[in-house]
Amino acid sequence: MIEFKNIAKSYDGSNYSVQDLNLIVEDNEFLVLLGSSGSGKSTTLKMINRLIEATSGELIIDGQDVKSLNPVALRRSIGYVFQGIGLFPHMTVCENVAMVPKLLGWPIVKRLERARELLELVGLPYEQYGERLPEQLSGGQQQRVGVARALAADAKYLLMDEPFGALDAVTRDKLQQELLALKSRLGKTIIFVTHDLFEALTLGDRIAIFDQGRMQQIGTAHAVMSAPASDFVRDLFARPAQQLKDFRGLL
Ligand code: ADP
Ligand code: MG
Repeated sequence: MIEFKNIAKSYDGSNYSVQDLNLIVEDNEFLVLLGSSGSGKSTTLKMINRLIEATSGELIIDGQDVKSLNPVALRRSIGYVFQGIGLFPHMTVCENVAMVPKLLGWPIVKRLERARELLELVGLPYEQYGERLPEQLSGGQQQRVGVARALAADAKYLLMDEPFGALDAVTRDKLQQELLALKSRLGKTIIFVTHDLFEALTLGDRIAIFDQGRMQQIGTAHAVMSAPASDFVRDLFARPAQQLKDFRGLL
């Protein structure tokens, strides 16, 4: 479990990008952080693996304050899919996937085996794709590699920052469904950032709605829609109301 206790982050000492954040991420849940650009989603996510240090408050992972953990070891122990794609352009697909296991000192046979298994899992068999460079893949395929890479060390937590944002609607839809299937198969705790309401509704066990650095509300899609805690949340769901009605069983 991951617990944010009164977490705040200011980059410049006067403006707060995240404030008053109290949030518990339960084991095995799929939590979506939803909000428009600049609302503090990426900052929140990056504080978990200390890519960004909180200005104040406590962030506890499995009972340990992250401040007491080695940031490099922490980062390697948590799967992370970057905003944008973020593959290493000069490494092959296989090398990208096997990178964290390599940094963790896994023997070569074991990490290659792991990379093959994961490439298979995300639908990019090694024989066909493993030795390619990222630029020799489509955007959707590169995203799959990003997901495989984040799964490589079999971390309990997976952080995903708008991983499907740059993809066309059909590819995004497909990867969303695959991610859900993976999630139920692998039993991970996933924290997934998006600005897309429909993506949030499709994926999240719960949705945490951010605006201007503050979490406005958290709950299941149904709970949030049926009892919005603020005008902001109400408006967020009111806007595409007709489209939402088409969303099976939610309204
Ligand atoms: P989101 O991911 O929701 O788009 P971010 O967490 O990236 O939002 O940003 C929240 C706020 O913090 C924005 O106002 C952004 O400009 C600011 N911010 C983000 N990263 C930095 C940084 N490295 N330095 C200064 N300000 C930053
Ligand atoms: Mg962001």
